[in-house]
Amino acid sequence: MSALHLRAVVLPEGEQRDLWVDAQGYVRTEPVPGARTVLDRGWLLPGLVDAHCHVGLDEHGGVDEATTEAQAVADRDTGALLLRDAGVPVDTHWVDDRPDLPRIIRAGRHIARTRRYIRNYGEEVEPEQLVAEVERQATRGDGWVKLVGDWIDRDAGDLTPCWPADLAAAAIARAHELGVRVTAHCFGEQSVAELVAGGIDCIEHGTGITDDVVAEMARRGTALVPTRVQLDNFPAYAAQAGEKFPTYAAHMRDLHARCDEVLGAAVEAGVPVYAGTDAGGVLPHGLIGREVLALHQQVGLPAEAALGAASWAARSWLGRPALEEGAPADLVAYDQDPRADLRALAHPRLVVLRGRVVA
Ligand SMILES: [Zn+2]
Repeated sequence: MSALHLRAVVLPEGEQRDLWVDAQGYVRTEPVPGARTVLDRGWLLPGLVDAHCHVGLDEHGGVDEATTEAQAVADRDTGALLLRDAGVPVDTHWVDDRPDLPRIIRAGRHIARTRRYIRNYGEEVEPEQLVAEVERQATRGDGWVKLVGDWIDRDAGDLTPCWPADLAAAAIARAHELGVRVTAHCFGEQSVAELVAGGIDCIEHGTGITDDVVAEMARRGTALVPTRVQLDNFPAYAAQAGEKFPTYAAHMRDLHARCDEVLGAAVEAGVPVYAGTDAGGVLPHGLIGREVLALHQQVGLPAEAALGAASWAARSWLGRPALEEGAPADLVAYDQDPRADLRALAHPRLVVLRGRVVA
């Protein structure tokens, strides 16, 4: 591996700088002898983050290693070099041994209520097993566990929370004792209210956040990953439920119709929002640019904040460095200033992962 030299406007500071990458793949702020210049103009960002995707999953469940690899490469080639995996039924730790594939922060397997989630996705348990299952998934992940907070309850004919609030709070407290953060899939109003009150660290989707819950999330610093590109599937979910579950279908259509207003209120209140695509279920990988654009245009995050939500701010939240001395050289460069036009994200000029040019 050879040393690299890059000159560009480095974000978020926005100043033209020279950076070097040493032969071990780390960022250096002083010249490295023999470095090859791979970039002499443009804009440079810490590698992008997809804070909610699923590597190793498709609409039917776990996939083989070749498909997993293709998913990871699709993300990498759009500059998404750090992926927070929000639950997969297969073990993807082999990806960690592949220097050409993005880094993954895993949440183990989705913890779902028995027969209350997509088949072949989750570890399905009853409430009295929740704490033990959180303990188990904590050992399979990289500092996160993922709950399915609500889903259609066929007896009620609507979304209902999957877990009694007190047991969910106990499971969150146990995860925190183990040094693990907890996130949850929440579409409706009740689950997110209960889980935020129970001390959860992050909410996925969050279409049912009400004004008082927004205020509570802002006060607690609870993160939100809206997966805005995914939410446009709600009308299809409603259509599938059809005449059998009319209350659920109407609820999903209403959540979809109001989602930009609801998520925008969270942005306004200062809830920390991060970019996640939910790729790997029904959506393809490689959509991080689209999600950043959606967070800006539809949810109302200012352009620079939307970029940070998929780069430096998300890295800080996940405990990973940006482009500082000694940081692993994971970076992406563009010919155009993405702050001026986020569509620039669709065309990375250069992608460097672990100090190697990969795209
Ligand atoms: Zn997901």
